Amino acid sequence: MESSKPPNLRIGSGFDIHPVSSDHSRPLILGGVEVSAGFGLMGHSDADVVCHALADAVLGAAGLGGLGDHFPDDDPSFEGANSLVLLSRSIQMVAELGWSLINADVTIIAQKPRLSGFLKEISSSVSITVGAPVLVKVKSPEHIGPLGENLGIVALASALLWQP
Ligand SMILES: [Zn+2]
Repeated sequence: MESSKPPNLRIGSGFDIHPVSSDHSRPLILGGVEVSAGFGLMGHSDADVVCHALADAVLGAAGLGGLGDHFPDDDPSFEGANSLVLLSRSIQMVAELGWSLINADVTIIAQKPRLSGFLKEISSSVSITVGAPVLVKVKSPEHIGPLGENLGIVALASALLWQP
């Protein structure tokens, strides 16, 4: 009997959190989309939790560690960086090892603002950047704990890579 070889697949997971900034001039950027919230997130780059969690998932799936290993947050060249660029560079790094992204799934956990109206645009922005379908959804922390008090926003991501 012929034994079939399992497909060459790798799964990765990512997590990111940034605190809400007291600097009211900072925009809230999620998946490269500016969301009107009246507040932004604190961070060295644009603090885009969606891009950071997803890049972590993609790099992790390929065994390349996490985003911070490649784009350290004390590197002045990443100050105010557009995280879509970091995400796109992460995709290039795994592609150099022969890996392609099949799909990814991202959950944002945010008490504020209401993100349901932005999810299509965020999903589309990230999907175009990575060249694969990415579903972005949102969960409310139900007023529980620091996230429920709107002290920060979290994103979780899973990514599946394939190599022929
Ligand atoms: Zn981050």
